[in-house]
Amino acid sequence: MVKKIRMMKKKLWLTILLAIVFGLLIGVLLSPGVGIISPYWSDVISSWLAIPGYLFLAIIQMIVIPLIFASIIKGIADSGSLEQIKLLGSRILIYFLFTTTMAIIIGLSLGLLIKPGYYVEPKEELLAETVIEEDKIIEINVETFPDMIVNIIPVNIFQSLVERDMLATVIFSIIVGLALASMTARRAKPFLNVVNTVQEFSLVIVRWAMFLVPLAVFGLLAEAVVKMGLDVIFGMSIYVATVILGLLLMLGVYLMIIAFFVKMSPITFLQNIKEAQLLAFSTSSSAAVMPLSMETAEEKLNVKPGIVQILIPLGTTINMDGTALYQAIATVFLAQVFGVELSIFALLLILITTIGASIGSPGTPGVGIVILAMVLAGVGIPAAGIALILAVDRILDMCRTTINVSGDLTASLVMNRLLKHKTIFDH
Ligand code: ASP
Repeated sequence: MVKKIRMMKKKLWLTILLAIVFGLLIGVLLSPGVGIISPYWSDVISSWLAIPGYLFLAIIQMIVIPLIFASIIKGIADSGSLEQIKLLGSRILIYFLFTTTMAIIIGLSLGLLIKPGYYVEPKEELLAETVIEEDKIIEINVETFPDMIVNIIPVNIFQSLVERDMLATVIFSIIVGLALASMTARRAKPFLNVVNTVQEFSLVIVRWAMFLVPLAVFGLLAEAVVKMGLDVIFGMSIYVATVILGLLLMLGVYLMIIAFFVKMSPITFLQNIKEAQLLAFSTSSSAAVMPLSMETAEEKLNVKPGIVQILIPLGTTINMDGTALYQAIATVFLAQVFGVELSIFALLLILITTIGASIGSPGTPGVGIVILAMVLAGVGIPAAGIALILAVDRILDMCRTTINVSGDLTASLVMNRLLKHKTIFDH
């Protein structure tokens, strides 16, 4: 499928890199602190520059739900046998659980070791401007857990589609895919033909959207720099550095898996995935990178198409190691700022809620921080503390999204290796 609809131009990475550099440069020049233009105009100009970026994200968001739906159904139904799907499914889930737990452990350990929260004072005025509405905060505990489990099944799929609920779409697609795989081929074929067409037209639209990428990246970066304010980053530098160090360690874990388990050179791996990483960094949205990740996995990493079609949409939705690691550090950070003691039980609770939160977060910019409220509520940290870390969230979002995408691509190679003799995933 992807072969016919190429979206990766030659040297896409160079285009994105140049756009990042120019975006940063213009962003710094436009920053109110630099004093070339007034804060009002810097705001206005950066918002205009960001238009292609938001258009790009909007087009991808428009098409990502049908694309997930079609890819997963096609991936499952094409493999034909339910046994094989069980084989792939259980391995993927165990692997995702393993890497997410690893990410959270790295996050918690770094947070407890470096103690970034001891370097800042909570600012009352920041806390007063909390942006999180209390009713959005869902507490996870023994009472709410049964409901959460039942709610996994989307009772009204149209509502879920309307609300662009990625997790619900994934679950619905898996169920439909399994049902189709257990029907006779003759019966399933008409619907599968439609699904094929949906996937193809979605990819055509993505390819069109890719034309916007250079301008999108440039504008989003310029706006991010203007809105961020470099002084804020310096003020929170220990926290920012802790998160970035954690994310780099996680990348190290992936590279070790690639070197020792997949037996591919980490350099080759990084060279092959750099387009996807750069796009993730500049858009802060793993959903926006999903089509490119699918093409990267299939064409550059030579992962079997049957694995790619199931794993990448699933991974984009539920496997967010960068987000999980970030949430772990942010929680420990805020606990330190507010002087909340974290017992071993609290740490365990953070582990469990963070796994749940990273599964539930859709891969779009900034969601990680909203979902963080849920984790914080569980251990008694005021959700208002989020206001404190909001100012530096954009840069961290860029970095964690890069790791989220790298994690999915690593997973695709791991599954390819595990299932290398299974020819049913070859088409
Ligand atoms: N922006 C991230 C992603 O799309 C999610 C997050 O906010 O952590 O992967």
